[in-house]
Amino acid sequence: MTALEGLVGHWVEGKHLPGSGERRGDVYDPATGEVRRQVAFAEEADVDAAVAAADAARTAWRDTSLSRRTAVLFAFRELLATRRDELAAIITAEHGKVLDDAQGEIARGLEVVEFACGLGHLLKGEHAEGVSTGVDVHSLRQPVGVCAVISPFNFPAMVPLWFVPVAIACGNTVVLKPSEKDPSASLFLARLWQEAGLPDGVLNVVQGDRVAVDRLLAHPRVRSVSFVGSTPVARHVYETATAAGKRVQALGGAKNHMVVLPDADLDLAADAAVNAGFGSAGERCMAVSVVVAVEPVADDLVARIAERARTIRVGDGRRSCEMGPLVTREHRDRVAAYVAAGEADGAKVVLDGRQVEPDADGDGFFLGPTLLDGVRPEMSVYTDEIFGPVLSVVRAATYQEAVDLVDANPYGNGVAIFTNDGGAARRFEHEVEVGMVGVNVPIPVPVAQFSFGGWKSSLFGDLHAYGPDGVRFFTRGKVVTTRWPEPGGARGLDLGFPRS
Ligand code: NAD
Repeated sequence: MTALEGLVGHWVEGKHLPGSGERRGDVYDPATGEVRRQVAFAEEADVDAAVAAADAARTAWRDTSLSRRTAVLFAFRELLATRRDELAAIITAEHGKVLDDAQGEIARGLEVVEFACGLGHLLKGEHAEGVSTGVDVHSLRQPVGVCAVISPFNFPAMVPLWFVPVAIACGNTVVLKPSEKDPSASLFLARLWQEAGLPDGVLNVVQGDRVAVDRLLAHPRVRSVSFVGSTPVARHVYETATAAGKRVQALGGAKNHMVVLPDADLDLAADAAVNAGFGSAGERCMAVSVVVAVEPVADDLVARIAERARTIRVGDGRRSCEMGPLVTREHRDRVAAYVAAGEADGAKVVLDGRQVEPDADGDGFFLGPTLLDGVRPEMSVYTDEIFGPVLSVVRAATYQEAVDLVDANPYGNGVAIFTNDGGAARRFEHEVEVGMVGVNVPIPVPVAQFSFGGWKSSLFGDLHAYGPDGVRFFTRGKVVTTRWPEPGGARGLDLGFPRS
């Protein structure tokens, strides 16, 4: 048996390696509850080797022409599109989300790859002729160097694809640290990049936990950190890496509200609440976890949501079910404990996912759709990010009460308003303190030509992910002022500012 058999290892300089350490983690099939393989946990030496590979590849990749870099991006796009079924199967096997949803995640990742294929346009600088006599100015955008990308379990392909294609297209090299819960997608992507012609060392992957992350945050050759995960870790990443002089974008957790005004189309709103609340078993940073029903529609809306949620087929994501398991047993138990706490705090359990009978073999990590009514802002089901299939309904007397609730929440990732009143929607989008807003759209994830990011405790840093902000994040600006000596042109001493 080789050192790598059954092991998800690191990817350094184009090679799959077991790493130097002995520490390992179990990788489960969440639908059956079985351990399917192990993942290597990097030690500091493994991270150093990956950063050294990225650093060694940096100059040659930066100096590779834009057209050659773009050719690699196009080839990667074709390979990813062609082999998406294989990647979806890997995602479902380790994350648990249903195959259809895994395909959706890949489709959103592909959008960013396609955006990066056209990056030549966004990397163009500006030019001003004759700013002073005989003097011209132009600006350049240049790569930052070695970039670290640290991703969460819930989108094992899409989140790396938010950053890696843009970083690479801009001429950087990358060290990716995926989640240890579903690490195989990262290796699949690394192999595709190699097949697409990306030189070895431009993309490296280190598997593992906090040891790997903290080494990346401290490593002097790492110039930028893109992180996505929970808010406490995002804050730690931001504070540690900025203190070490790196540029950082750290996207954190969420508690997304969906405000339903009395004039809304209630069937549309109920469909949206169910899709956005229970899709991917609620393990999405843009999942709707709170429905704010502005009276007098709450009873009617709750009944329509419950009627739909009851029909959701829960089970193994490979069996044409609509909702899969949660990622680990501990997480499932934690989410179930929130439901119990909500009930104890006085919320009404309209639909109880703890009773679920999934279509699956074995002992998977299932919890069915759960609907809690009469939730109040002081309950833990409201204050905490649960990250599971639990939808809380809070009742508000007025539009203003609903907006105040959203604004008082420490998170500000996504929000939606459902209404047929254009004026109310316009006012809402103007005043709400949230980074991504949907109007009759429950999960307003921006398409790739815009940028993705929340406000408040949902994002630490200034620049959002992908889109124009992604290009700014992965490049440094430089401005060049030029004068070519001309016969009879300005000469001689002048100790003041040039004025003409
Ligand atoms: P997590 O914070 O536990 O882990 C994220 C990454 O950080 C992983 O690679 C993990 O190995 C690493 N990590 C974990 N603990 C660490 C520590 N103490 N020090 C250093 N590194 C550490 O998050 P998760 O459970 O994998 O993902 C779910 C969370 O991610 C949710 O809070 C969700 O809202 C958030 N999320 C946010 C967005 C967004 O765009 N804002 C997108 C997806 C997920």
